[in-house]
Amino acid sequence: MSESYINELKKWCDDLYGNIISEHPFASEFEEKIIRFKTELDKAESVSESELYEQANQLYDEFRSFIEGEDDRSLAVPIGQHKLPPLPYRYNALEPYISEEIMRLHHLKHHQSYVDGLNKAEIEMEKARRTGDFSLIKHWEREAAFNGAGHYLHTIFWNVMNPKGGGEPKGELKEAIKNSFGSFQAFKKHFSEAAKAVEGGGWAILVWSPRSRRLEILQAEKHQNLSQWDVIPLLVLDVWEHAYYLQYKNDRQKYIDNFWKIVNWPEVEQRFQTAKKVIWKPY
Ligand code: MN
Repeated sequence: MSESYINELKKWCDDLYGNIISEHPFASEFEEKIIRFKTELDKAESVSESELYEQANQLYDEFRSFIEGEDDRSLAVPIGQHKLPPLPYRYNALEPYISEEIMRLHHLKHHQSYVDGLNKAEIEMEKARRTGDFSLIKHWEREAAFNGAGHYLHTIFWNVMNPKGGGEPKGELKEAIKNSFGSFQAFKKHFSEAAKAVEGGGWAILVWSPRSRRLEILQAEKHQNLSQWDVIPLLVLDVWEHAYYLQYKNDRQKYIDNFWKIVNWPEVEQRFQTAKKVIWKPY
């Protein structure tokens, strides 16, 4: 195998590596693959050019699907198997704005406990479906909401910060902020005030509303209100009394039973097909 081709491939590895580090925070798994391939190149004299080309090609395909999240499409997180996502930078990377001590505690202890709590709730709810014993369903739904919202929001949170961050958004987001809030300054003020005014623990959240086709700023007290955030509703049932009391009085059960006779599944299917197009990396 010619040395120049090997050197070329090594340089290509370096470029790929540099690209990942600068652009893609969740890269540690892939970084390892590149380093391994590059190490193998050191003893590649006896390997044919076409074979090396094949290997590099495969690496590049993996790289592309990694970047585009293509291979994530079919990857569901199995019930009870959420994982703590790696922090996309070192624990001290956000200093002096957020200390290393906070980041370690927040990520390794707090976020981990949401992941554990969500997994536990999912397993218990699966058990209820299997056994038909739903006597603790309210408790586990609460646990799933609290810990699920905690897990999903923190997963977003780590990634919307970066040591090289700051400044103002560009492109379509910049335009959308201007259209939705008037100006970046107005958005920033509103978001900051909303964050300041959250009662107790919670979050300020910039959201995209597919319905109003605008951005909006919302608060979440704690993480949730029995919801998870970062999820898309498909089928909903209103169980406020105003939805059934005139007809069913306090027989909510009967109202729920009858609801199943009028569910419009094609609409739910349509919402599902559209919602599935939104894809985040699974954790
Ligand atoms: Mn937190």
